[in-house]
Amino acid sequence: MVIIIRYDEIGLKSKPVRARMEKALIQHLKRVLGDVRITKEYGRIFVHSDSRDDTEKAAKVFGVASTSLVVQVDSELENLIGKILEYARTRISGDESFALRVRRNGNHSYSSIEVARIAGAEVVRETNAKVNLTNPDVEIHVEIREDKAYIFDEIISGAGGLPYSTQGKAISLVSGGIDSPVSTYMAMRRGIKPICVFMNPSPLVDKRTEDRALETIKVLSGLVGEDLKTYFVPYGEVLMELIKVKDSALGCVLCKRMMYRTAEIIAEKERAKAIVTGESLGQVASQTLDNLATISKAISIPVLRPLISMDKNEIIKIARKIGTYEISIMPANCCLGPPLKPSTSATPERAEKAENEIEVERLAEEMAEKARVFYA
Ligand code: ATP
Ligand code: MG
Repeated sequence: MVIIIRYDEIGLKSKPVRARMEKALIQHLKRVLGDVRITKEYGRIFVHSDSRDDTEKAAKVFGVASTSLVVQVDSELENLIGKILEYARTRISGDESFALRVRRNGNHSYSSIEVARIAGAEVVRETNAKVNLTNPDVEIHVEIREDKAYIFDEIISGAGGLPYSTQGKAISLVSGGIDSPVSTYMAMRRGIKPICVFMNPSPLVDKRTEDRALETIKVLSGLVGEDLKTYFVPYGEVLMELIKVKDSALGCVLCKRMMYRTAEIIAEKERAKAIVTGESLGQVASQTLDNLATISKAISIPVLRPLISMDKNEIIKIARKIGTYEISIMPANCCLGPPLKPSTSATPERAEKAENEIEVERLAEEMAEKARVFYA
C-alpha cells in the first residue's frame, strides 16, 4: 500500500514556486515520518508506507489537504474491477451498505460511471451488501489516473495551509495562555517559521507561568519536528516600573507596547519580518480597536493577528485540536491583573506621555539583550 498526499493551494502556484513548495512539503513529511521513501507525480505526493499511523501523521503536516492509505493497481478495466472486488471483500460485511465513488482522469476506454456500475454489481453479488449512495456504512473510493488506479476507504482531512517555513520568519509573542499558542500555530500553518518570545514576569509570578509557556512551545515544536528558537525575556523588573506609572488606567496598553518594542528589537536581530500575537478584537480591554492601534504605534514592523476575528470558543476548539488547551488552562498567574478601570480608548499621545516617566527604549533594549535564548 501507499499513502497519497493531496495538496490544493500549492497546485495553483507558478512552476518555480510550486517546485519550491513541493520540495519543502516533502522535506517536512520526511521530518515527521522519519526514514520513508517519498515520490511525486501529477501534482500528488506518494509516501511509500502501509501504516495507518503514518497516514494520520502526514495529514497533520502543514500544506497537506488530505491523505489516504491506498491500494495501487493497474487501471485496465478487467483488472480494475477484480481489484475493487478484492478490496471490497476485505472491507464490507454482508449486513452493511456501501457506495462506490469513482473518479477518473486521463484517457480510458470506459467512463467512471461504467466502472461504478459494473464493480458495484459484482460487489453486491459477492457480498450481499446493499448499495446506499446517500448514507452508506462503507464508502469505497476509486481514483483512476492514466494507467494507474487507487482504491481506498478513508480520506483524512489535513492541516491545510502552506508548507512550514516557506514564508519566512516572524517573532511570535507566546504567553502560554489559550490564545497565543493558537495564533503561533495559525502563523506556522501559513508557512511562517516562528521565533517564540515569552515575556517572563518572574519574580512577580511563580514558575508555573514559565513552565506553561515552555510546554506550549514544545507542543508546537512537535508539530513540525523541529525545536523552535525561543527567547525568555526577563520582564519582572520592568513590569514593576510600568505598574508605578501615574496614568494607571493605561497599564495593559503600556505593558503590550513594551512587549511589542522588545519583540521588534529581537525581530531586527533575527531578520524576522513581523510580529505575531494572539489578540482578538474586543476580547479584553487592551484589544479594542483604539487600543490595538495605540499598541501598534509603538513599533514600525507589521503585526499579524491571526485570531483577530475569531470567537473565544473557536480559538478553544483549535487549541484542543493541536494539543495546547490542556496546558494553557493549568493554573498560572500570567499577569498581575489588569487595572481596575482599564482604558478602552487610549491614544498614542496619552501612552507616550505616560511613557515619559520611564526610559522605555533603553529598558526594551536591555531586556532583549538579557534574554535567555534556546531551542524548545
Ligand atoms: P493569551 O491567551 O495568549 O495569553 P490573552 O487573550 O490573555 O492572550 P493578553 O494577555 O491581552 O490576551 O495578550 C495579548 C497577546 O499578547 C497574547 O496573545 C500574546 O501574543 C501577547 N502576550 C501576552 N502576555 C505575554 C507574555 N507574557 N509573553 C509573551 N507574549 C505575551
Ligand atoms: Mg493572557
